Amino acid sequence: VLEWGQGEHSKITTCAYCGVGCGFKAEMKGSQVVRMVPWKDGRANEGHACIKGRFAWGYATHQDRMLKPMIRRKTTDPWQEVSWDEAIAYAATELRRIQAQYGRNAVGGIASSRCTNEETYLVQKLVRAAFGNNNVDTCARVCHSPTGYGLGQTFGTSAGTQSFRSVEQADVIVVMGANPSDAHPVFASRLKKRLRQGARLIVIDPRQIDLVDAPHVKADYHLQLRPGTNVAVLSALAHVIVTEDLLARDYIAERCDAKSFAQWCGFVARPENSPEALAAVSGVPADMLRAAARLYATGGNAAIYYGLGVTEHAQGSTAVMAIANLAMATGNVGREGVGVNPLRGQNNVQGACDMGSFPHELPGYRHISDATVRADFEAAWGVVLDPEPGLRIPNMFDAAIAGSFKALYCQGEDIAQSDPNTQHVQAALGAMECVIVQDIFLNETAKYAHVFLPGSSFMEKDGTFTNAERRISRVRQLMAPLAGYADWQVTAQLARALGCAMPYQHPRDIMAEIAALTPSFAGVSYEKIDRLGSVQWPCNASTPENGTETMHVGGFVRGKGRFMITQYVATDEKVTRKYPLILTTGRILSQYNVGAQTRRTDNVQWHSEDVLEIHPHDAQERGIRDGERVGVHSRAGQTTLRACITERVPPGVVYTTFHFPESGANVITTDSSDWATNCPEYKVTAVQVLPVQRI
Ligand code: SF4
Repeated sequence: VLEWGQGEHSKITTCAYCGVGCGFKAEMKGSQVVRMVPWKDGRANEGHACIKGRFAWGYATHQDRMLKPMIRRKTTDPWQEVSWDEAIAYAATELRRIQAQYGRNAVGGIASSRCTNEETYLVQKLVRAAFGNNNVDTCARVCHSPTGYGLGQTFGTSAGTQSFRSVEQADVIVVMGANPSDAHPVFASRLKKRLRQGARLIVIDPRQIDLVDAPHVKADYHLQLRPGTNVAVLSALAHVIVTEDLLARDYIAERCDAKSFAQWCGFVARPENSPEALAAVSGVPADMLRAAARLYATGGNAAIYYGLGVTEHAQGSTAVMAIANLAMATGNVGREGVGVNPLRGQNNVQGACDMGSFPHELPGYRHISDATVRADFEAAWGVVLDPEPGLRIPNMFDAAIAGSFKALYCQGEDIAQSDPNTQHVQAALGAMECVIVQDIFLNETAKYAHVFLPGSSFMEKDGTFTNAERRISRVRQLMAPLAGYADWQVTAQLARALGCAMPYQHPRDIMAEIAALTPSFAGVSYEKIDRLGSVQWPCNASTPENGTETMHVGGFVRGKGRFMITQYVATDEKVTRKYPLILTTGRILSQYNVGAQTRRTDNVQWHSEDVLEIHPHDAQERGIRDGERVGVHSRAGQTTLRACITERVPPGVVYTTFHFPESGANVITTDSSDWATNCPEYKVTAVQVLPVQRI
């Protein structure tokens, strides 16, 4: 705590928006936050901030905040305000009734990437120790679960390889399926600074993002591929690197698995993986694919940064593995200035994954079927754990519709708005007998809830967030929880009502338990974070005191890096005469995700609705005028949006953001998903667009 005047003081905390994880000094008068000042000693931001973190924190005290627990027997009944004790007892009784009636696996939970590490840890513990199954998942299912799978298969762990500051040593920067200027603005500033110093830039994106032609920054190559062809482009790049022998042979011989490397070389060298063959598939000219591959392989330190434009595809996991293959083949993993770096969307999506919010993994990415690992948790928690992986979020929806999944505890996640194919999600929620929503607002999912437990914002609790560079930073309580309890306390109460002991006095006690049970967190403590400002996992006895800045130095976590065969397969979501355009989605600078927070701040002055970007050629063909409302139809549903005619998108591709519930972007996205992880294919939806009067 830094005192700065009588009755006035400040506390260091961490932004609750994106995965950059900027540190802020919250300046307070009494119990009121009056200003958020970027923390100059914050390692992730070094005194910088964007218009979300700096100005859009007022949602925490917005009049829409829900402060009373509520219950109702049927969703058609009016809500009834009750005490905390009554709400918790009702929820626990319903969960036990449903398990007695339908079986242990009829209930599950969803953890939130907006909540702290300690809170997500408790949700997975609640599900495993109190519900007695592994039906726990998190929103990473719908964003970076392919990163977890792809980097786990190739490198051995699910995390970005570098610190943000590593980009200052990069000579060639690849930005693929990401728009850092809007979605990760403080990191984008660092990246642009390096580009202004002369680093070369390859952008792989269907849309002309800001970086392609920003002031003083210009991409050397913009590989403007057709949505859904990431793996084709990556295969073409690999083909050039192998057939022109641009390989880092010494690095591969020392650090990678020889057999998988030989198989991979044979695969990518096939004629069907050549730039000439894949130019027609991807829409990217063969000579540009060749030039980009040569630059990546021979231009010095080469770093890849990617986002949801890589993961949210039917081949999301394949694309992540293809990226890892390229980095290993060129020796670009394991030192400063290189690496494979997923740009994480939510403030604590990395942490939610680290904490075991997956149906198949315990904290620290250890498989639930591993009896040795399970034994540690069983001894600490005093329970016997189910060795079988549980249900993923889409499996929960399917099981609910089929009648075998009946109750859900959902903390800080608006699945009715954020998950694809809204109609399917609504049907699943409507089929459940007990939906427990814990949130700061009465969100869309709460329309299907039987129990509402008021949540707490990041200002009302202590804890930690982990950002996209594995940096664990403190979240510090600035005010008392408005509804009486922080989220971790509510989960602990529900667990106790179900007979599971959670005797924590403070989140530091939860972190102590995490550290005791998770080798990559063994050296993490509040005392250390308070002293050093932040630490990066792995942080334990075999790392420096502040943890690990660069991963895979000298060797991969899994031992030898493994090359994976990444065959391009066209998505099932194809254009037809009825649906001739491809819709893809993204974010804008001033808004955040489904807008639950930013919509309730002055940030709406910059953007107050989602629009549909459409190329002039496609607009003219349909008689669409700039600014008029258009109908957008897909196989899943339809919505209306205001048209924005622009050459940022190529002919045949339309684009929208998903920040406002009125736009209903997920009414039209389908439930097609990644083959390995079920991450939805948000980025490819075949649509038709017509003026509203012609629908
Ligand atoms: Fe917050 Fe991300 Fe903006 Fe930093 S860049 S202030 S973490 S939203």
